[in-house]
Amino acid sequence: MKIVVASGKGGTGKSMFASSLALLFSEITNVVACDCDVDAPNLGLWLGVTTYDSVEAISTSERAKINNEKCVGCGKCFENCAFGAVEKIDSRFIINPLLCEGCGVCQLVCPTKAIDLAPVMNGEIRIKKTKWGFPLVSGQLKPGETGSGKIVQELRKRADELSHEIMILDAAAGIGCPVIASITGCDYAVLVTEPTPSGFSDLMRVLEVVNHFSVPYGVILNKWDINPEASQRIEKWSGERFLGKISYDREVVNSIVNLRPVILSKSKVKKEIRGIFGKIQESIEKE
Ligand code: SF4
Ligand code: SF4
Repeated sequence: MKIVVASGKGGTGKSMFASSLALLFSEITNVVACDCDVDAPNLGLWLGVTTYDSVEAISTSERAKINNEKCVGCGKCFENCAFGAVEKIDSRFIINPLLCEGCGVCQLVCPTKAIDLAPVMNGEIRIKKTKWGFPLVSGQLKPGETGSGKIVQELRKRADELSHEIMILDAAAGIGCPVIASITGCDYAVLVTEPTPSGFSDLMRVLEVVNHFSVPYGVILNKWDINPEASQRIEKWSGERFLGKISYDREVVNSIVNLRPVILSKSKVKKEIRGIFGKIQESIEKE
């Protein structure tokens, strides 16, 4: 069973909720937690993790390189690179490594086979057995590199190899490659939103992805009391997909500052999260 926590928007409380879900499920079954936000991983912080048992450098992207001995200066690579990564300096062509996406088009169009694609070590996969008894698998894209979606695929493979009944995936913000790679193949999606226009708008966007992959879902409203009227509208819109709401509480911030999972803190939201956990279990059984 794979449960993804997503929202479309950053800052809605995805990682806070994903960490709580992992802890609550770990009370009844074997869990593996996956931090799929490879640009800005922070699920570990919500679980009190600051160091890892293993760190593996991985390559999920490639970069073009021109062999000057074979290059005849025809300029086809320059004309066909959609990313502007081929630069002409005097009469020579070179690849700008910061712009190259490794798409391989230049290699296809080069008449003298002067271009090679070489693997780039663009990320890391880190694993930690948390003090709560279950493992956390986390990915990290290196600054300036591409291939975030593929890093998520790799970290999911590593997580699959670990013994578990339930995998909790904490998706990144937005609806790009890493989010698509997090949602695909999941059995249920928990969509976390907040009562703001951008929160609701981004919920609609991520919902398109969730529906595209036909993943059943439920909606959680976080910080509902910062705008009760908007919350009421979202709750009404969610209908039977509504799983529950979580209050705004500064104790939640204190909990991450102190590297203590919110579900083990003094925050009043603990009770609300446990209630939502029960609803998620019911929804999963129905699906
Ligand atoms: S691999 Fe793609 S992005 Fe990189 S230089 Fe070639 S055409 Fe441009
Ligand atoms: S397409 Fe090949 S031969 Fe032509 S400029 Fe580029 S690298 Fe050189």
